[in-house]
Amino acid sequence: MRAMSLLMQRKAPATLPKLEGKEVLVGPDPSIAKVKGVMFGGRKQFLLDTAGEDGFARLLEKLTPRTRGYVKTPLASSWCEFESLVELDRTIHETLKAQYPNVLALIGAASAELGIGRIYRSLDSEELVHFLENNALFHDQYQKFGSVRFERTPNGGRMIYTNYPVYSPIFCGSAIGYFQESILRHGGTEPNVVETKCHCHGDKSCTFEMTWK
Ligand SMILES: [Zn+2]
Repeated sequence: MRAMSLLMQRKAPATLPKLEGKEVLVGPDPSIAKVKGVMFGGRKQFLLDTAGEDGFARLLEKLTPRTRGYVKTPLASSWCEFESLVELDRTIHETLKAQYPNVLALIGAASAELGIGRIYRSLDSEELVHFLENNALFHDQYQKFGSVRFERTPNGGRMIYTNYPVYSPIFCGSAIGYFQESILRHGGTEPNVVETKCHCHGDKSCTFEMTWK
């Protein structure tokens, strides 16, 4: 049986992210506009599971050589350009959106699936909060830019990412799916994730408000 995120097993939402706003892909200091190669590994697995070997090969042909190399042979611990990650996700979105309108969220969900693995039978809020806190704690292992803090709220939590020299609505679109899948795998139902502030819209943070039951 092929892998499938819990998010993919649900009906696609009626409203989808509009992917509007400004985008900065390299920034004033290109040496910090980097993400960890493991993110490309997650996308490769998602593409193989969703589009098969042939679909994966066809998508590779649409990419620039650097990005193609990152996804064809992902090196989990290497640093790769943020620009390449956005190029890849944009290409996945363009290629698969007719079939999967919420494909960006599904990409993020696949990352959470790989990172969490197990599925909790019923809601474990403490474990979920612990997982989100760890996400904030180990942020520097996955991105060379920005800071993040997690705050508990009465019915959930919020992740606040600040000081982003690079950003893209494509990147934020996959983050929403990552958090939705994180809630679902910890036994949460009705995962509600809304990005209430965004660098792409001129705000000083990308803030994701989450509630769950
Ligand atoms: Zn954002």
